Amino acid sequence: MRFKIQACLVQVVVSGLFLWQRPAATQQIKPYRVLLVISNQWKDPASFLVSGGGEFQTLVTLFKSWGVPFDILRLDQVILDPGQFADFQGRARYGAIVWDADAETTLSPDDDLLLREAVEKLRISLIALGDRIQQPEIQRLLGLRYRSEHMHSSHALVAGDSFVLRGLGPDLHQQGPPTIAKQRVQAEAVGASVLATAGGLPQITERDLGNGTRAIWIGGDIDQLLLYQPMRTALRRSIVEAIGYALIKTWTNNVVLTMDDMGNAQNAWLEHWHYPALTEGQIRQFMIEPLKAHHAILSLNIVPGFVDDAARRIVPTWKQQFTDQFGTKQDYVSTKKGLDEGIAEGVLEIESHGWTHMQPDLTSPPGPWWGAPIEDERAEVGWYREFYDVRRNREIPAAEQKFHMQQSRDWIKAEFGTEPLEFSTGGNGVSRSWANNTWRIAAEVGYGYYGGYLGKDLAVEGRADSTADFGGTDDVPLLLPALPDGHDRGIAHDPEGFAKVFDLHPHCDFIGLDEYIGYQHATLMTSAGASERLKMTVEYDPHYCRALRAKGSTWNFEVSDWLRSELRSQQLWVDGKSSGAVDQETKMVTLAPGLAPHVIELR
Ligand SMILES: [Zn+2]
Repeated sequence: MRFKIQACLVQVVVSGLFLWQRPAATQQIKPYRVLLVISNQWKDPASFLVSGGGEFQTLVTLFKSWGVPFDILRLDQVILDPGQFADFQGRARYGAIVWDADAETTLSPDDDLLLREAVEKLRISLIALGDRIQQPEIQRLLGLRYRSEHMHSSHALVAGDSFVLRGLGPDLHQQGPPTIAKQRVQAEAVGASVLATAGGLPQITERDLGNGTRAIWIGGDIDQLLLYQPMRTALRRSIVEAIGYALIKTWTNNVVLTMDDMGNAQNAWLEHWHYPALTEGQIRQFMIEPLKAHHAILSLNIVPGFVDDAARRIVPTWKQQFTDQFGTKQDYVSTKKGLDEGIAEGVLEIESHGWTHMQPDLTSPPGPWWGAPIEDERAEVGWYREFYDVRRNREIPAAEQKFHMQQSRDWIKAEFGTEPLEFSTGGNGVSRSWANNTWRIAAEVGYGYYGGYLGKDLAVEGRADSTADFGGTDDVPLLLPALPDGHDRGIAHDPEGFAKVFDLHPHCDFIGLDEYIGYQHATLMTSAGASERLKMTVEYDPHYCRALRAKGSTWNFEVSDWLRSELRSQQLWVDGKSSGAVDQETKMVTLAPGLAPHVIELR
């Protein structure tokens, strides 16, 4: 028995070695997937919520926004293992490693060997960022020698032509925050080519390890380097250079218009936020018509539940018609007709602004809110916040938040026939502890976006204020609160103000949030392990990607110089149709609507 087990083990080891030492094919195509290696930057020990800022959160945000498939390896919890780099058959699982493990991370001789084999034998390319180059094996692979890091006023400047920096520069610290000085990593190139320098020192380097394997370093201040557009583009192009190709989404000149509050109770009950709900006629004339004229979409964060003061319960908003205590006629039935019209015209998208825009507990002290005089407790804005108890200055418990998020989703679906994909809280009231984290709970309920990214795999805590990190760059659409003030209130006071946004952004495409969410959740895959032929699939998730299912999608298929020269005889095929030779850096790939998976291949 014992002998048998050992014999089996020997066999496994021998076949493993055989695969490990397989002779190289000249045109080995790497898998389109990145392994992001970090040290202790993921603050959530349960590996779900990405928050707290920093380059790790930025990388996750960018990868989701670009559509780059990735896994995260956190070295504060996980031991390096060959299975992280090679699949069941011993082939590379990734096209590139993005190394973001800090100076505290030390590698054992076994770890060094694993990384060396991952890069040199499995041919997984390596991209290291900022000062994350302090492990001797990482330096050896990059062809660098790390010296130190000190403040310096210099900017990174392009030094000659390279694929990674083509079209950028000369100054790579543009389109970002102005600074007097930043941390500059001091390293010496020993085998790497220098693509950019800062104050005469190498700052972006590339080493060709042969067989299509690259080791690229994007240096600079780790806390700041990705705040500059050219550096983000350099990172994106590094992924193309490292893997040889990429299917990427970029967002130049894309605007997502959002507007909060339709259906909220504040306009009827909160003295300083008082106005009449918009009517069908106002919605048609001042919103739908200008949206149609500009082929634009407006994403509305609406509130489907309304406080019925007489019954002391939450009732459907869109059935309410009454004259409020200020003497203003409130007609939410008319509002709903306008919304339905805009949805039918394809210019309005319905998203969630919670269930009620109100405290779940409207009864206990300092309340009750129910039945209180209009200029007493009802005048306190804290009552009108749903996901953080602003009136009592405490978090809303997780189960209560979850119930409200589910009610919002279910009531919106009952009224409009579709589930909201975006979630945003009233008045930016959010709970941030891990147990009660509003982003984490919204992701669990099935929402796909709240300022960052929400999914079943992880949640990125975005900004709560209706904008987005890197919004309005090549990397993330501009999330723009609709004029005049991001709320239906603005239109009630200044109906003509809404359409002015189109004059302010004349050359932009006004896409909806559903479209951005769809791209973030599309699944891009190459068949497991490297192969001789480039073949990848794109799938639209039936829940999150409904905008792509309805409209199709467009991507940039990018190919590095080195792989393009090897693929000269091949053509790009999209869903069985030829798109011609791969003779440029970028080819636009358009994928049809519907739920069938798409196939992109070179043959
Ligand atoms: Zn609101």
